[in-house]
Amino acid sequence: MRPTISVLAVQQKGDAMSAVTETSNCGQTSQAIRERLARRREFLLSDIRAHLREALHVTEESDPGTGDLERATEAAHEEELALNIADVERDSDELSAIKSALDALQAGTYGLCLDCGEAIGARRLSLNPAATRCLACASEREHMAAAASRRR
Ligand SMILES: [Zn+2]
Repeated sequence: MRPTISVLAVQQKGDAMSAVTETSNCGQTSQAIRERLARRREFLLSDIRAHLREALHVTEESDPGTGDLERATEAAHEEELALNIADVERDSDELSAIKSALDALQAGTYGLCLDCGEAIGARRLSLNPAATRCLACASEREHMAAAASRRR
């Protein structure tokens, strides 16, 4: 099919360019990618700070009591804490992906899938510069994670 051929051609062109101008296979310079990742990192860190502050606030508020109202309030607090923890977990997953991407930029392996070693693809990298796996490997991992959580 024609589209497949054109995608391959773009990737090969990107690889050839990377040797000369330090342009990664997503068409951006590694400096631009580094800056984009650094900005995202700052955002995630401040998001985590906000969630932790909120979680702390919830904890300070909760005053263990015995009445129905206290129990209901405590349950609501637990729920709020769980939401904050889930957000922090997501942020920290993304932070470690950003760290891997920055390491890969340093090592010159940026844009290559950690699992299969193939080029991740320009479109996927421009949407998510911290992507460390190609679409096929990433969705396989998601399937495995989903299956594992169903077994729990
Ligand atoms: Zn892969």
